[in-house]
Amino acid sequence: MAYLTTAPRGTKDILPGETPKWQYLEKTLLQTAELFGFREIRIPTFEHTELFNRSVGDTTDVVQKEMYTFQDKGDRSVTLRPEGTAGVARAALENGLLGDALPVKLSYNITCFRYEKPGSGRFREFHQFGVELYGADSPAADSELLALACECFQVLGLQNVVLEINSLGCRECRKRYTDALLRYFSQYRGQLCSTCLERLDKNPLRVLDCKSPQDKEIAAGAPSILDYLCGDCQEHFREVQQRLSAAGIPFRVEPTIVRGLDYYTRTVFEMVHTAPDGERMVCGGGGRYGGLIQELGGPNLEGIGFAMGLERILKIMEDEGCDFPPEQTCDVYLASMGRAAGVKAFQLANLLRSEGFSAQCDLMGRSVKAQMKYANKLGAKYVIVLGDDELQKGEALLKSMRTGATSPIPLGDGFSDAVYEEIMKNAYADLEEVAGQLGLDHHHHGEG
Ligand code: ATP
Ligand code: MG
Repeated sequence: MAYLTTAPRGTKDILPGETPKWQYLEKTLLQTAELFGFREIRIPTFEHTELFNRSVGDTTDVVQKEMYTFQDKGDRSVTLRPEGTAGVARAALENGLLGDALPVKLSYNITCFRYEKPGSGRFREFHQFGVELYGADSPAADSELLALACECFQVLGLQNVVLEINSLGCRECRKRYTDALLRYFSQYRGQLCSTCLERLDKNPLRVLDCKSPQDKEIAAGAPSILDYLCGDCQEHFREVQQRLSAAGIPFRVEPTIVRGLDYYTRTVFEMVHTAPDGERMVCGGGGRYGGLIQELGGPNLEGIGFAMGLERILKIMEDEGCDFPPEQTCDVYLASMGRAAGVKAFQLANLLRSEGFSAQCDLMGRSVKAQMKYANKLGAKYVIVLGDDELQKGEALLKSMRTGATSPIPLGDGFSDAVYEEIMKNAYADLEEVAGQLGLDHHHHGEG
């Protein structure tokens, strides 16, 4: 029975107290990407398993250990997406987005699913914000994406995040580097974990990405990819760095970054947060992928993208005390006593809501005193009290919950301009602020 009231391991409910932060985060990231010309795409939660085997790579941890794969009732193998790049590339190809004006720039907010051991900043269902840019193989595109990553952190007010960049070279550099890695790691065959022994034969690069402490130690002494880059790849990487420096975008070259997915070529990067106690948290990563689009049967186009883990970013923002928009509370609570007054309260609540105020009225048949208590809990800015007697006089009582001041207000079919103005004085400023920060278009028809 516990299953009925316990969410699956590694999943998390996002409660009403937290959703405003999520809305703000997701909206802000999409809007920031929009400034760079990225437009949002929405893709399915599951894809044919083969898509991920092909693109993410079948020697990666993600494919080997972490995918939620199952046979559906039609006996097809499908997988809950562990990341966004493969699905977005599939969608772009399927819908002919890459046949048009290049480069194509897409952004997304998605949930991802990975069967991992839940722990700090690690979930089985988590959220990513990501972008993909197709059709440009220039260093300019790499720097543009890194600039966007940097801007995202700036806009959110995150301190202590550093862009760490590396180059994995092209197919030829990679071949020479892989040979060198194979030679290096072969000396340690007796000490590497069993997964890495397999990796060593299939894809030695993956050994660098192993999480086991002993393997990490061995990997620390491995040759650096940067010593194996061909002239073109060196030039490409140098220009990326020049452009970043010219634009004042801070970065650090980190030759150990290989990334957990197979499709990367040339520039790869991670966004790393370091807490005051020195703890490192990778909150995003990405890179250029040369072969992916072709691997999926598309044209010979390169792509570059990144994804950020929103749980981790939110956690860091909370730890660092970053600003979030204030929560929107009830503007007006309509307290009523008696049946006729209850109907009037309902009518007035609707009127207020159509004017863009948040308004609530009694649904429980409570006493006025109990309603006032509830309004207080809601954080209502105003309460309008309606009794059958007052109604007869065509009057109600407006109470400011902030100051406690009350004043009688005349009621006709609705409210006088003076009442709207009074409510607006408090509520409107807050509403606009919230709406503005959330990027919502909040109209007040009754204004002016
Ligand atoms: P890690 O090394 O932490 O496992 P990764 O290389 O597997 O990360 P990516 O595939 O690059 O992660 O995904 C991009 C971002 O998504 C990560 O930087 C991280 O912030 C976030 N992320 C990845 N896996 C998880 C997870 N299981 N739970 C929460 N966030 C995650
Ligand atoms: Mg991982």
